[in-house]
Amino acid sequence: MAAAAADAKGEEQIMNMEFKRKLAIPMEVKEMYPLTGKMSETVDARIAELKAIFSGASDKIALIIGPCSADNEDSVLDYISRLIPVQEKVREKILIVPRIYTNKPRTTGDGYKGLVHQPDPTAQPDLFKGIIATRELHMRAVKETGFACADEMLYPENHKYLDDLLGYVAVGARSVEDQQHRLTASAIECPVGMKNPTSGDLSVMMNAIQAAQHQHHFIYRGWEGHSYGNPFAHAILRGYVDQHGTPYPNYHFESVRRLAALYGETELQNPAVIIDCNHSNSGKDPFEQPRIAKEVLSFRKYDPAVKKLVKGFMIESYLVDGRQSVGGGVYGQSITDACLGWEKSERLILEIADML
Ligand code: PEP
Ligand code: MN
Repeated sequence: MAAAAADAKGEEQIMNMEFKRKLAIPMEVKEMYPLTGKMSETVDARIAELKAIFSGASDKIALIIGPCSADNEDSVLDYISRLIPVQEKVREKILIVPRIYTNKPRTTGDGYKGLVHQPDPTAQPDLFKGIIATRELHMRAVKETGFACADEMLYPENHKYLDDLLGYVAVGARSVEDQQHRLTASAIECPVGMKNPTSGDLSVMMNAIQAAQHQHHFIYRGWEGHSYGNPFAHAILRGYVDQHGTPYPNYHFESVRRLAALYGETELQNPAVIIDCNHSNSGKDPFEQPRIAKEVLSFRKYDPAVKKLVKGFMIESYLVDGRQSVGGGVYGQSITDACLGWEKSERLILEIADML
């Protein structure tokens, strides 16, 4: 056993880690960085529009689009600002929810873990600065662009730093089987997308949706809590990999129809799927995304159940095509998954609107 260490206060620590400093709790961070009434109204209005899509009250589609990781405040806000006039053009048919993904799950744990760990991707982790940078970026997006954005909930305890800002939350393929993620999702106000796991087992995703739609008693941030359930928890199909790591898609007609049948066996509210056009669906080739989105839009018409179920798309998109290594220095190019660049993304959004 490792020798007991002392924490910042000199108290004995049994765990094999240094407790560096106590972080400000969400309430304190929100007091330092409060929302204005106008910002809250913006977020509430966007969530209401999104819920109308998931409930079927609106037949627009949701487009969750943006970089794989929000690695740089300037380029992310530049990107989201470019979405404003495009959203205006397609407003009758599409609701855009920009991705501001500040937490990155890593397959082996190595590599850039997102803004919350490293506000500067080339510097050492600084989690306090990261929490502030994350809140500031989401706040600036709401204030300066009028969008309420999407983020991945990788660390459920951190959700409370952003719960007044987010328009959409995704639970990732590597987290969807985890109980704390499911229970926390049941306490979230905005729609939560549950991805299929990397193995592709749809029952894991369906169980996650069921858990999130129900009420639970559980421990959250040192509180004994009772959640009310999230009727807008839904599916995201992101493709999967086999035991050799070979990617397989699950956006095709047959996959979506199977999902519609699975939903039909349940009592779940607001059946819905978002098709993630990148990740294992594209085999991480971001330039496949336009084809995938258009294929889904064209096959939706063959089956009313499929048409009703597909409520939108997730697209990985940034200013510049492709990806680079951390510190590569290309403004607006992804340092995690390769993305579709701005011109192609803008064209795709307009093409999607034309097909609707
Ligand atoms: C992502 O959306 O960037 C992501 C990490 O997705 P997944 O959990 O599907 O790998
Ligand atoms: Mn990604």
